[in-house]
Amino acid sequence: MRIPTLALAAALLAPLTATIASEAAFAPDALKTAAYLRDLANGGSAAYDIVESLTTEVGPRLAGSEADARAVAWAKAKFQELGFDRVWTEPVTFPQWRRGVELAEVLAPYPQPLHITALGLSVGSNGPIEAEVVAFADLAALSAAEPGSLDGKIAYITNRMIRTRDGKGYGPAVGARSRGASEAASKGALALLIRSIGTDHDRMPHTGALQYAEGDNAPPKIPAAALSNPDADLLTNMLRRGQPVRLRLNIDAGVVGMATSYNVIGEITGSQYPEQVVIIGGHLDSWDLGTGAIDDGAGVAITMAAGALIGDLKTPPERSVRVVAFANEEQGLFGGKAYAEQHKAEISQHIIGAESDFGAGRIYALRAAVSEAARPQIAAIGEVLAPLGIAHDSEGGGPGPDIIAMAERGMAWAQLAQDGSDYFDYHHTANDTLDKIDPRALDQQVAAYAVLAYLAAQADGGFGSAAKPEAP
Ligand SMILES: [Zn+2]
Repeated sequence: MRIPTLALAAALLAPLTATIASEAAFAPDALKTAAYLRDLANGGSAAYDIVESLTTEVGPRLAGSEADARAVAWAKAKFQELGFDRVWTEPVTFPQWRRGVELAEVLAPYPQPLHITALGLSVGSNGPIEAEVVAFADLAALSAAEPGSLDGKIAYITNRMIRTRDGKGYGPAVGARSRGASEAASKGALALLIRSIGTDHDRMPHTGALQYAEGDNAPPKIPAAALSNPDADLLTNMLRRGQPVRLRLNIDAGVVGMATSYNVIGEITGSQYPEQVVIIGGHLDSWDLGTGAIDDGAGVAITMAAGALIGDLKTPPERSVRVVAFANEEQGLFGGKAYAEQHKAEISQHIIGAESDFGAGRIYALRAAVSEAARPQIAAIGEVLAPLGIAHDSEGGGPGPDIIAMAERGMAWAQLAQDGSDYFDYHHTANDTLDKIDPRALDQQVAAYAVLAYLAAQADGGFGSAAKPEAP
């Protein structure tokens, strides 16, 4: 009987040591409830049905469009249907951008059509323009060109995005999209083309916002578009032959005025400290090419489903759990900024925030920026998440895009890092559709958000949120 006894002791030892931190940080009932939420959600959640509903009944929802207004109505109705205690909207105003015709073709030396899409916020070309293409390896190479050297030309940036799990290939590549147009214009270019900021080989270009330089000395605004990656290869192969390559571009797009959309908010009201809030969410707007399934229907669905599960508990959480479907993230984080402005006097009441906006891949890590005193609570939450295959990283990470403005004002944040290995195959393309979502992976994410939000709502003493003095 010795051997079984020893085996039993060894089997007990691992979970015992593993739960010490969580038992010190949270009351046993809170841990029990968190484990219940985790296992319930991981076994099947409402999230897939929610994102199916959004992509089917609303579809593409470019900020400020008629479809965006339908998405706002959809989100209000969905929060109500899911039983949230309070549902409301807060206005968000921004320049409204519109996409029209977008055509590109090679005129010489090898005439053929190219697949492009205008970058978000691009101006139009005022009819077709015809010009020679000049290629640059990356934004830095374009910046190094002499002023005037691109007079009457189309600049073309060829940099490739590298595939990684955490998406770190995006940052180095995306400058071509966000700043390339003004850089090219400062050298005299008529228009900008870029290789898509994406990791796929599909003939679907990736859109995404650009930012024109502003100010008295800013160069003129020129039209900008992305080539699909196979079209970028094709253009590069033509240029390699050494003869001038002439293109015709016709882009009809531009800002048409100001529009107002809404952050849509659903809240599960806290029983002890209703004014104290744990905030989770995703962004409701999408680009217009796909149906906005992974960006960011998934994030909206995951956090709505997680909030609803907490709302279904027999005993409400001590603090409030607020789920925000943010307006217009894509064109400049307008919803997150508007939320922070609206709630700037309540930073210390926003206990912690986390956003799901990195597709629908499984979560593999918990990271957080909290006070030293709250580190044991985060470690304890990590222990409850461990059975989901989620590790606690004590360093690194960053807040989701719509959480940045609140974090900058002093709110503590957490990140549930998702596997984004294939995210940039579909990101901002016509291929961002429901079939890219694995319902079981979505359930794992709902489980993680439910645990995080619930335990944050029960934590003694919060996570160190405190308003920073505003910059003069
Ligand atoms: Zn997004």
